[in-house]
Amino acid sequence: MSVKYVYLFQEGSGEMKSVLGGKGANLAEMTKVGLPVPPGFTISTEACNAYYQAGKQMTEEMKDQTIQALKQLEQMTGKKLGDASDPLLVSVRSGSVISMPGMMDTILNLGLNDDTVKGLAELTENPRFAYDCYRRFIQMFSDVVLGIDHFYFEQIIDDMKNEKSYRLDTELTSEDWQRVIEKYKELVQQKTRNPFPQNPADQLNWAIQSVFDSWNNQRAVIYRKIHKIPDDLGTAVNVQMMVFGNMGDDSGTGVAFTRNPSTGEKVLYGEYLINAQGEDVVAGIRTPQPIHRLKEEMPDVYRQFEQICHQLENHYKDMQDIEFTVERGKLFMLQTRTGKRTAHAAIKIAVDLVEEGLINKETALLRVDPDQLNQILHRRVDPDTTLQVVAKGLPASPGAASGKVVFDADEAEKWSKEGEKVILVRPETTPEDIHGIVASQGIITSRGGMTSHAAVVARGMGKPCICGCEELKIDVKVKTASINNTVIREGDLISMDGGTGAIMLGEVALIDPVLSDEFQKLLQWADEVRKISVRANADNPEDAKKSREFGAEGIGLCRTEHMFMAAERVPIVQEMILAETFEERLEALNKLLPMQQGDFYGILKEMAGYPVTIRLLDPPLHEFLPNLEELIVEVTKLQMSPDADPAERYEKESLLRKVRKLHEFNPMLGHRGCRLGIVFPEIYAMQVEAIFKAAIQLMQEGISVEPEIMIPLVGHVNELKLMRRVVEETAERIGQETGMAVTFTIGTMIEVPRAALTADEIAEEADFFSFGTNDLTQTTFGFSRDDAEGKFLHHYIDHKILPENPFASLDQRGVGKLVEMGVQLGRSAKPDLKTGICGEHGGEKESIDFCYRAGLNYVSCSPFRVPLARLAAAQATLKNG
Ligand code: ADP
Ligand code: MG
Ligand code: MG
Repeated sequence: MSVKYVYLFQEGSGEMKSVLGGKGANLAEMTKVGLPVPPGFTISTEACNAYYQAGKQMTEEMKDQTIQALKQLEQMTGKKLGDASDPLLVSVRSGSVISMPGMMDTILNLGLNDDTVKGLAELTENPRFAYDCYRRFIQMFSDVVLGIDHFYFEQIIDDMKNEKSYRLDTELTSEDWQRVIEKYKELVQQKTRNPFPQNPADQLNWAIQSVFDSWNNQRAVIYRKIHKIPDDLGTAVNVQMMVFGNMGDDSGTGVAFTRNPSTGEKVLYGEYLINAQGEDVVAGIRTPQPIHRLKEEMPDVYRQFEQICHQLENHYKDMQDIEFTVERGKLFMLQTRTGKRTAHAAIKIAVDLVEEGLINKETALLRVDPDQLNQILHRRVDPDTTLQVVAKGLPASPGAASGKVVFDADEAEKWSKEGEKVILVRPETTPEDIHGIVASQGIITSRGGMTSHAAVVARGMGKPCICGCEELKIDVKVKTASINNTVIREGDLISMDGGTGAIMLGEVALIDPVLSDEFQKLLQWADEVRKISVRANADNPEDAKKSREFGAEGIGLCRTEHMFMAAERVPIVQEMILAETFEERLEALNKLLPMQQGDFYGILKEMAGYPVTIRLLDPPLHEFLPNLEELIVEVTKLQMSPDADPAERYEKESLLRKVRKLHEFNPMLGHRGCRLGIVFPEIYAMQVEAIFKAAIQLMQEGISVEPEIMIPLVGHVNELKLMRRVVEETAERIGQETGMAVTFTIGTMIEVPRAALTADEIAEEADFFSFGTNDLTQTTFGFSRDDAEGKFLHHYIDHKILPENPFASLDQRGVGKLVEMGVQLGRSAKPDLKTGICGEHGGEKESIDFCYRAGLNYVSCSPFRVPLARLAAAQATLKNG
């Protein structure tokens, strides 16, 4: 049976993305609805896979079908490929299923050779145009198919410009281009030992194969890795009749978004260049005109374009990113796709589309990617600080960043691996710079517009970007960027604000994000839909306040160790640790008690009416003592110096003894968590007393409190049994002392495998479980996180031994199985057992989806991730029901 590999545009449709690729499917769809699309055909992604299977060869079937389609195209256009009197010229364009802007190769003006170029010149009575097309074709074809770098060709043009003292490419005459073409052909002969291919049928075959090959070029492979696009989707190839934006001042080419992709505002947003072809706009070679100027320059074309944009938006029910070309006053549509946008824009557009009646709330909720929200939940430049702005460019992608300047992508990668925060500063970026963009905090270019490569890629990654900052004179060779009299060198610290385009010297104060009205609305819709609660991990009143503002419904994890770390408390904490007797320890604890009480008072008050899970002390005690090595050095110094104070020496020596005694070979598995509370119950008792006293204080003020006391690192039910008794005895004592009873619950973290395995036993003693998936991941894999992430985990991920970092996204099959088992066993013993998750995973969308499926009651994450978690929780309900 023969497979259909080739589809005319009129045979396809928008639904056929997996076969035709995104570009092909949308060209077909636009053709179907009657928009002015130059005719053409698509060779399918299945052909691409068959091409690879055949050992990188076009099969006979594919070749035949392509020839047939070409014949039909010739009939439709009335032109013939290679016909010197009226040549058909085509573009050969790649198009994968998931759009990968600029990652693969496109060839324009194919079909030109020494004969057809003459025909084109005569037919158009415009030899300059014809030779410009031919030289572009030679250059693109040589780059993509023959592997000769653009650089050599640009060099030839530059030499010509210098010789003639021209400034712009547009000043080259027909004769100049003809001489350039001769040089181009010599270059090709010299580099490939063959003349530039003159047969258009050969040109077409080679071009198609090169597009298939470009699926596996380095930048496409890296792009797929970053965006987690499968390697086996393959790319389609689109062969399309050329239309010409470079035929004079009544022609042009441009790209536009139907709404502003940075802010979401409903205005046409884009750029165009008069008398230019295809890539000129995106390449950032000339800085283009804003689209609204087209209204003055070509009012009829503008009106028609506006109308088409509207039609496309209504058709696709989403913001579109559109390529167009005007040939002698006639408008052609060359591409449409769902436009990439910032998180800010994604939210506004989703909410606006609901209000415009184009989509429903559920669709809107699914339109915004929770991962992307990170960008707007980031800090931005404090508007109240006086800024020393040294230059301003186009605000191409919002967000603020500070970092050290680097001028090249490889350096950016190298510095960032060494732990430096860098800002990549370039005249422009190309797809080859992608690794440098990944490694940078932000990107600044001196050339190119809002739709230049840097801008598009940065917006996609949610990184701040400033483009077209022409005052910045960048010298990549000597590694400087100068603005008037200021010279910025490699390694200098600068700050940037991608929302305003401002570049500042030094580091600038940043402020917390606020949620826009649209965002609030979307989150409200999310709250109506979701069935899992969202809490925050917060250790102090400020964070508690922030999490309430962001919509947290309680605190899922309040760590108490940070409260011991404040400078004025450390000496008391050390006193407690160093105490030789129980009485001494109690004395120190009594000093800590009122301080702890104050801590809990503040947090419980902020969280009035909402549950607060307070975890009793967790880290090993030596974390509060000085570092062993440093102490040894200090003591040695004191011992060596004859006039050292003997009292001080004695004190340091006994501190050293204690530090040595508490030293652990593997602190992660050492004397920590409830193991501390078991050996020193008075520590936990003090903390519990502080909680109850704070609660009573608030109750007396008429504020309702809901403390949940959490015992960490339980592995055996007996541990919890003992700790439960400590809590209950303390509650009773305080109750008697004050005559007031606090309502509270006692639960445990499930963070070692044994706890999950015996969850039914543990549930007998627990009112709630909180899965500490951070430690549970460490103990399940047997990884210590810092060592793993610092040493071998990246190797595991690079080599696909693990699909992902299990500390970032929950390992559902392993760690997740323990979570599920914990929930099921726990509920088998206690059906109304409350369960939640408090690891960092609680703020990651895939993990949240898992938690919902596992039946947890809530997720808890850092305050800034709460809005993200609310949305992800709604999506989990919409996806799983
Ligand atoms: P990319 O995926 O990198 O955007 P495209 O295949 O869309 O690559 O093509 C690159 C440029 O060439 C775009 O600006 C596009 O509009 C232009 N182009 C492609 N095909 C044609 C054509 N048939 N006529 C005129 N311009 C074209
Ligand atoms: Mg394109
Ligand atoms: Mg833990």
